[in-house]
Amino acid sequence: MEKRTVVCLGELLIDFVPEISGLPLAKVETFRKAAGGAPANVAAAVARLGGKARFIGKVGRDPFGAFLREALAEAGVEPALVETDEARTGLAFVSLRDDGERDFLFYREPAADMLLRKEDVKEAWLGDAAVFHFGSVSLIAEPCRSATMDAARRARARGALVSYDPNVRLPLWTSADYARRVILDQLPFADIVKVSEEEVGFLYGGASAEDGARLMLGAGPRCVVVTLGAAGSRVFTRAGELAAPTVRVDAIDTTGAGDGFVGGLLWRLADAGVGAARLEEAFADPSFAGEALRFANAVGALATTKRGAIPALPTRPEVERRLAGEA
Ligand code: ADP
Repeated sequence: MEKRTVVCLGELLIDFVPEISGLPLAKVETFRKAAGGAPANVAAAVARLGGKARFIGKVGRDPFGAFLREALAEAGVEPALVETDEARTGLAFVSLRDDGERDFLFYREPAADMLLRKEDVKEAWLGDAAVFHFGSVSLIAEPCRSATMDAARRARARGALVSYDPNVRLPLWTSADYARRVILDQLPFADIVKVSEEEVGFLYGGASAEDGARLMLGAGPRCVVVTLGAAGSRVFTRAGELAAPTVRVDAIDTTGAGDGFVGGLLWRLADAGVGAARLEEAFADPSFAGEALRFANAVGALATTKRGAIPALPTRPEVERRLAGEA
C-alpha cells in the first residue's frame, strides 16, 4: 500500500473568535464560531495543499460536535471522529490583540476530546499513515494521554514517521513544571519535533534555539525544527543545521501560523516519500532542506494574513506564486 496520508490526532474544539480585534475578552460582544485545535489545523493545512489528511479525535454527541465533523470534511480532511455522551465538545474563547497575538479562555473540564481512549483508535486509521502527528494538549490528562502515546507507537510500528509539536498552552496545565516534564518525556517517541523559539526557552530554562535543539536531539528525535516568527525557521539534525527566511506579510491574526508551518513541512515529507529512516539524509541535503523550510515558512506566513486558522490556509499554487514572487 502506498502510504501518503498525514494522520493527526488530538484536540478538536470550537474557537469563539471576536468579530472585532483589539478588545480584552471581557469587552468583546460578538464571537464567531470556528473549528479549532492545533492538530486539526495541521490536518487542514495538509488537505488545503492537496495532500491526504485524516484527523482522529473525540467530540460530544452535540450540535458543536456535528459542526466540527462538517468543518473537517469541508476542509478536505477525513474525519475519524468518535462521539461521546460523557462530555460536551470543548470550547475556547479567544481574543485578538492589536499585535495579532491571542488570549484564551478554555471551557473543557472535561471536554470530549480529553476522553479519547486507546481502544477508540482503529487500526484502519493508522495503517496508511506516512506521517503520524500529535501535540501536547492531548498529553495533559488520561485517558487521552495513553491513547495518544499508544497511537504514536502503533503508527511508528507500521512504518509512519512520527511528528510532535509540543505547542505549549500553559493555562491548560496544572503547573509549568508538570507541563515541562510531560512535554519533554515524549521526545523519544518522535522522529521530528517542531518548537517555537519561545517554547525552547520555556522547556530549557532560557536556552537559545541552538542549545535547546541540541538538547532535544540528545533525547531521541532525528530532527528538530525551530520556528522564529517573522525571522523564519531553522532545522537541526545531528549532522548539522540550516536556516531559511520567510516571506514578508502583513500579519492580521497569528492563529495557525505554527500549524500551517507544520502542515506545509509534513506535506512535503509525505509527498516526497521521506520516511523516518531517510529524514536525516533529506535534511542534510541543503537543496531539499532549504526548499522544504521555505515552503513551510510561506504556508505559516500566509496563514497570518486572514482571520482564523483554517480559513487562512493557502493552497499549493498560492504558496508557489508567493515564493516565485520573492525569488
Ligand atoms: P507559532 O505559531 O507556533 O508560534 P511562529 O509564530 O514561529 O509559530 O510561526 C511559524 C512560522 O510561520 C514561522 O517560522 C514563519 O515562517 C511563519 N510566520 C509566522 N509569523 C510570520 C510573520 N509575521 N511574517 C512572516 N512569516 C511568519
